[in-house]
Amino acid sequence: MTKHITGSMLYDLVQCPTRVYMDCFANPADKVEVSPFVRLLWERGSEHEADIVSKLGEPCLDLAQLPVIEREKKTIEAIRSGVPLIHGGRIRKDDLLGDPDLLRKTPYGYIAGDIKSGAGLEGNEDLSKPKKHYAVQVALYTDILLQLKISRSYEPFILDINGQTIAYNLLASLDKSGSTLWETYELSLQTARDIVAKRTSPGPACCAICKLCQWYEACKSEIKQLDDLTLIPGLGRSKRDALSMCIDTVEDMAQCNITAYTKGKKTIFSGIGPDSLLKFKQRAQLLKEPNPKPYLTESISFPTHSTELFFDIEVDPLRDFCYLHGFVKRTNFDNTTERFYGFFTEDESCSEERSEFRKAYEFIISNKPCSIYYYSKYERTIWRKLQSKYPTVCTPNDIEAIFDPENAIDLYFDVVTKKTEWPTNDHSIKTLAKYLGFSWRDKNPSGAASIEWFDKWVKSRDPGDKERILLYNEDDCRATRILLDGIKSL
Ligand code: SF4
Repeated sequence: MTKHITGSMLYDLVQCPTRVYMDCFANPADKVEVSPFVRLLWERGSEHEADIVSKLGEPCLDLAQLPVIEREKKTIEAIRSGVPLIHGGRIRKDDLLGDPDLLRKTPYGYIAGDIKSGAGLEGNEDLSKPKKHYAVQVALYTDILLQLKISRSYEPFILDINGQTIAYNLLASLDKSGSTLWETYELSLQTARDIVAKRTSPGPACCAICKLCQWYEACKSEIKQLDDLTLIPGLGRSKRDALSMCIDTVEDMAQCNITAYTKGKKTIFSGIGPDSLLKFKQRAQLLKEPNPKPYLTESISFPTHSTELFFDIEVDPLRDFCYLHGFVKRTNFDNTTERFYGFFTEDESCSEERSEFRKAYEFIISNKPCSIYYYSKYERTIWRKLQSKYPTVCTPNDIEAIFDPENAIDLYFDVVTKKTEWPTNDHSIKTLAKYLGFSWRDKNPSGAASIEWFDKWVKSRDPGDKERILLYNEDDCRATRILLDGIKSL
C-alpha cells in the first residue's frame, strides 16, 4: 500500500524529521499520552477554523464533515464545476495527499490555503517572513494542484489568527542566497520520501519541542543510550549532523583534539567555528566529570541596589493575551523579606490587560531604584508589544529605561549562556534551579501547563485554577532568585 506524503507530515518534518520516522515505524505502545496543552492547541485550532469559516462572508461549499473518500470525490466534482470556494476538500496525486482547509478559484486556477490559529509570519515586525512549517504544507497542496493541472499559481495562502490572509509566494527569494520556499518544499519532500522508503532514519535529538512530543520518553532513552551530542547544551540537530562524520558522542567530544579539525579561523564542520567547538568540548568534559560543578568562565558584576525584583510573565499566545505579571521582591539581599506580587487579569478584555500592565509598570516605578532579573528576552519583547498596544500606559522610552541593562539583567542571555558552564543537558530555568536544589510546588510545572490552566480558568472561573497559576508563577520568580544566588556563589 502506498504510504502517502501529507501536508501535516511535512509540517512535522520541518520541526523534527525523527517524528516522521517514529510515526511511520516506531512501536505505537512507546508513545506517551498527548499532553493537555497539545490537546488544547488542537481544540482551539478546530474552534478557530470553524469561527473563521462562519465569518468568511461569501458562499463556501463545506465538505469538512463528509467521510474522507467522499470528500475527495466531491472536491474534484466541485473543482470541475467551478465552485468559487471549498472548505475541507481533499486532493491527491500519486504519493501526495493534501487536505487544504480552503480551495479558492482565481484567474490562475485554484489556490490552496490553510487556516492557522497562530501568526501567519514569524520574526520581528521589520523582518517578518513566512513560517517554513506552514509553507511546506501549503506547497504540497500547490504541487498537487499544479500536477493535476487545475492551477498555474505558486501563491497559496495562510489565514492567520487575526483573520488576515497572507500570501505565501513560493518562488520569491528568501535571503541573499536566493533560496526559495519551493526549494525548501522540494528538499523536505525528498527527505519525507526517503524516510517513508527507509532510505534514511534520522536519529532523535534533544530540542525544545521534545517535551510536548508523544515520542519524548522513547527518544530520551535512545539519546542517553547513544550518548548523543545533543545532550550538550546549545548543540542541536543541525550541528550534531555536521559533526557526525568525525565526532559521534559526548565522550568523543570530550576527548577530541580541536586543532586536528581547525583550519585557520574555521573548522572542517559547517556552521561551527573554533570557539564554538572549544565551548562544546568544555561542556562535554564537564558532563563527563565524576563530580562536576558549575563554574564561571568570566567574572560577573551585578547591580547593587538593595531592592531586587525577580520578574516573570505569563502569556496565552493563542489569545495573544498577557494574563499575569509576577514579581518576587527581596530587600537588602535578605531572603526572609521575599514577597510575591502578582498582577493577574480578572477577565480577557483589553481593558483588563491594560489595567494589569499599568499596575505592573507602576509597581516597578514605585520600587526604583532597583535591580530587575528575568530569564530570556521574552519579558522585554512582550512589554514592548504591550506598550505599543496601550500607549497611554507609558512611552517606548519608558520601557527601554526599565530594561536598561545597567539595572535589568537577562540572566539567560547575558549571564548563563555567556559567562557560566553547568553540568546539565540544557540551560532552562527549570533545569538549573532544580540542579541548585529548588523544587516547584506544582507537580507539573511548565509554561505550556500554565496556559492550559489559564484556559480552564477562563471557562470555569474556578479560584483553584487561578491559585495554581499564581503559585507556579511565584515559583518561577523564586527560581530566578535561586539561580542568581547560585551564580553569585560560583
Ligand atoms: S521527542 Fe524530540 S526528537 Fe523525538 S520525535 Fe519528538 S521532537 Fe523529535
